Amino acid sequence: MCSTCGCSEGAKPRVTKMAEPQPPSRSQPDSHPHQHEGHSHTGEHHHGEGHLNHTHEHPHDDSSHRTIRLEQDILAKNNRLAERNRGWLEGRNIFAVNLMSAPGAGKTMLLERTVRDLGAQTTICVIEGDQETVRDAERIRATGCRVIQINTGTGCHLDAGMVGRALRELDPPSGSLLFIENVGNLVCPALFDLGEASRAVIMSVTEGEDKPLKYPHIFRVADTLVLSKADLLPHLEFDLGRCLEYARRINPKLKVVHLSALRGIGLEPWYAWLRKRGESAPELS
Ligand code: MG
Repeated sequence: MCSTCGCSEGAKPRVTKMAEPQPPSRSQPDSHPHQHEGHSHTGEHHHGEGHLNHTHEHPHDDSSHRTIRLEQDILAKNNRLAERNRGWLEGRNIFAVNLMSAPGAGKTMLLERTVRDLGAQTTICVIEGDQETVRDAERIRATGCRVIQINTGTGCHLDAGMVGRALRELDPPSGSLLFIENVGNLVCPALFDLGEASRAVIMSVTEGEDKPLKYPHIFRVADTLVLSKADLLPHLEFDLGRCLEYARRINPKLKVVHLSALRGIGLEPWYAWLRKRGESAPELS
């Protein structure tokens, strides 16, 4: 749990607004001026700091009791801010998807492909979450999409306060599709509601089919499971049937799609689900 693992202590989240994207045909690798430096903010609103300081002033409290109280305070505050985000997004008819996965599962590549394939029909905006660098935001910006980067410093997840600040800076238009790419981590992002309409957990087939059993909470809170890098299946011992059995043992309602963003395989069910804003009735696969 984040308030005890130490990730929040001293974290300095930054929100970096990227320059307006160039149309994809005109974007060049070296065409990224560094305007974003001037838009950085340090995280005076970070959820953990005040509560953590408070604990040091009461060394005689029962520590386990104090820890539980801290967790409740942090999550309750997050949930209030998440509801504010949710209302704001619903008022603008924006469909927001929280993408969660381990590092390297292919979240950014799936977004690049999705923006390139759907961007002409639908306005898409992206909030990128990483501990450091604006590398992923630059990749998304190169697709011609409006994007903002949150760097969490030592933090291992996005929270609703960070996303609220990013929404104010990003100002996604009414009716748009918003992706929130969470920090790569199968544990902590599951605990923090961001105000999204949908949560998709992305798991690459190189990770092994037992991840739903080992990290059940993130599969429990997700509504959709994207199995990525499916083009590699012939080269792996990954048992797709067993993986689905494990995932549905944790969450029987999971919608599942397997695809390869790199090879362009299996993307249509994903796009159909996005076009229907998560309401598509049939299982994706
Ligand atoms: Mg990424």
